[in-house]
Amino acid sequence: MTNDFVLTEHFRLREFQCKCGCGTVKLDPSLVWRLQALRYKVGVPLVINSGDRCQAHNQAVGGADNSFHMQGLAADLACPKGLTVEQFTQMCLELGFTGVGAYPDQGFVHVDMRPGPQVRFQ
Ligand SMILES: [Zn+2]
Repeated sequence: MTNDFVLTEHFRLREFQCKCGCGTVKLDPSLVWRLQALRYKVGVPLVINSGDRCQAHNQAVGGADNSFHMQGLAADLACPKGLTVEQFTQMCLELGFTGVGAYPDQGFVHVDMRPGPQVRFQ
């Protein structure tokens, strides 16, 4: 399978590839290593709803024109069972992701490694 190789103990590259089926994947090492640290802290598998996006897919899902998802710097994570979105968001902030967005209605948290100081949105 395309991109089916191990990056860290708990993540494979294909988990980050664009969901449109184009096979595109960019991934910044700073993102995957922080996700691995988060995985150790949470102790259960993390499901990546959206990782890298090609431009067409980013537009199709209504992403921002300069979305960090197109730069291999962002991932949307399903909230693990047993945690509230707020609890999971706090963990993501503590782990040092520089962008953290909580989406309680949809049950996921966006994390990214944007340059600059940490920001939380929603
Ligand atoms: Zn795509």
